[in-house]
Amino acid sequence: MVEKRFYFLPDLPYDYKALEPHISEAQLRLHYEKHHAAYVNGANAILERLDEARDVGKDVDMKATLKELSFQAGGHLLHSLFWSNLSHAAKTKGEPSGALAEALKKEFGSFERFKKEFTAAAASTEGSGWAALAWCGMTKRPVIMQIEKHNVNVFPMFRILMVLDVWEHAYYLDYKNERARFVEAFWKIVNWDEVSLRFDAVMK
Ligand code: MN
Repeated sequence: MVEKRFYFLPDLPYDYKALEPHISEAQLRLHYEKHHAAYVNGANAILERLDEARDVGKDVDMKATLKELSFQAGGHLLHSLFWSNLSHAAKTKGEPSGALAEALKKEFGSFERFKKEFTAAAASTEGSGWAALAWCGMTKRPVIMQIEKHNVNVFPMFRILMVLDVWEHAYYLDYKNERARFVEAFWKIVNWDEVSLRFDAVMK
């Protein structure tokens, strides 16, 4: 039988204190070790359940299973993107440069305007969710997505360049219920080099 691959929790690209004071060690540990890990395990459990059902020819509830897989796998993938589009505040540039900066300026008029719209998307995501900067290959325009949960309102085939987790579990230890303060802190720890790399990869 062919060996099948499963998801795994990627290493963080920095140590637990790297994002302080904007994201504390305790907050990052909890978020990564408990929440992110749970999505990895959750997605794998569904893949195993599907494998087993196929092995023995048993039916599965496709609607419920696929909905759950979308949520768990989406959670895993978005968190993986999130960790790597953050970095130590001292190592970040504050705003993008090069082709990415030009693309944002062309679309939004200015970086400040992009920041304002993205902030508003993050602030108003209903319940638990994400704000994301994505790229539409058809119009060749950057687009802000407001993702509910980990998988709702995602535009098919749009390439995600940058994400911000605004689930309460992402900030509650550090900011209690004050999501706006967390979003403000996010801008200080965006790894623009990584976002640019993703943008350049999409452009190729
Ligand atoms: Mn999260």
